[in-house]
Amino acid sequence: MDLLDTLTAKGLRGETPTREEALAVLATTDDELLDVVAAAGRVRRRWFGRRVKLNYLVNLKSGLCPEDCSYCSQRLGSKAEILKYTWLKPGQAAEAARAGVSGGAKRVCLVASGRGPTDRDIDRVTDTVAAIKEADPAVEICACLGLLSDNQAERLKAAGVDAYNHNLNTSEGTYGDIATTHTYADRVDTVQKAHGAGLSACSGLIAGMGESDEDLVDVVFALRELGSDSVPVNFLIPFEGTPLAKEWNLSPQRCLRILAMVRFVNPDTEVRIAGGREVHLRSMQPLGLHLANSIFLGDYLTSEGQAGQTDLDMIADAGFEVEGVGESTLPRHRADIAAAATGGCGTGATGGAGGGCGTAAVSGGSEGVDAAVGGCGTGGGCGPCGGHGHAAANADQAVDETAATVPAGSDEVRTDLVRVRRRGAGTELAPNA
Ligand code: SF4
Repeated sequence: MDLLDTLTAKGLRGETPTREEALAVLATTDDELLDVVAAAGRVRRRWFGRRVKLNYLVNLKSGLCPEDCSYCSQRLGSKAEILKYTWLKPGQAAEAARAGVSGGAKRVCLVASGRGPTDRDIDRVTDTVAAIKEADPAVEICACLGLLSDNQAERLKAAGVDAYNHNLNTSEGTYGDIATTHTYADRVDTVQKAHGAGLSACSGLIAGMGESDEDLVDVVFALRELGSDSVPVNFLIPFEGTPLAKEWNLSPQRCLRILAMVRFVNPDTEVRIAGGREVHLRSMQPLGLHLANSIFLGDYLTSEGQAGQTDLDMIADAGFEVEGVGESTLPRHRADIAAAATGGCGTGATGGAGGGCGTAAVSGGSEGVDAAVGGCGTGGGCGPCGGHGHAAANADQAVDETAATVPAGSDEVRTDLVRVRRRGAGTELAPNA
């Protein structure tokens, strides 16, 4: 297939395809799907080998947000029966983070609901970062706190934060359809503030909100131009009690095409499968590892993921390996660019945490929301969100077996597929990692 030969050649050279080529990936047929995955998989392995970076979410403050992001279970007016709590204390957050790091995560994503942090909130996060790094000095920390005001990014950088997540979520042309309390330009501004302060930029999208192929391509190219070091790809988790509760627009095949397109447009950038992995890719999750080089371990902000051990088993069974703390996530040339942008020393090789060079984009002391999402993190809330429904009796039940029967285009509310997080941060129960 000429298209795939062209895209593979460009990707192996680190070049970006044309917009028409990206659209053509989304238009491929199911008969062509494995060829698409194989082609994008070659690009993924060229720049990231068989490594999978694990990220772990800690929801510092859950629910009760004044913003109206329609995909989010924490939004203004949400009827989703999620956990609601105010700021975790630094010790509580550090304990939650420890669980993820012990499970293999090299990055901890600290997420808080809300339009943006106050200066007092920055103090809280500063204390939390100190508590986490006291226990695990090498861990990468990404903050996802919403829209930033002047000097807040600099304060986070000084506190030891490595990256900042703020997703663009969708195209500029349709942004007004998913949120009205802030704008696409506000989100771009925060990503630029974070980058300008020397934080690695993590910014991604949410697919499945009713957008067109053109919208998806628009936002993915915008993220490339914005210089995002990490691109979280969320698949909408339709939460009961939110305006998008009945938006079941994705199939596993569609998700794989989207991931392949994101990989071709961002050949040498961290691509992370964020919220919705279990709900939409389902038994096709291992194929997603051939496209993305990063996932979240365990639960999401407000919904439950599959068991952390199941994530680890899936990675091993598919022939991939968990990326170590001492390994660089980004390939050297991209790490050098990121380091230059952040005032670091630009070593693309392994960097020791806190080595004094200030690399914000390389592991070992570096880099960038999940996909978690614009306003905040990933896909439904400010970090990878999740839907809700009833708490799973155990982690392995987080995704119901009936998931395989969900047709794209269904307009049902599926409380069997989307389960509210009831364990981990903000609860007395052990976290899923
Ligand atoms: S995505 Fe973030 S800003 Fe938007 S409603 Fe959810 S918590 Fe609030």
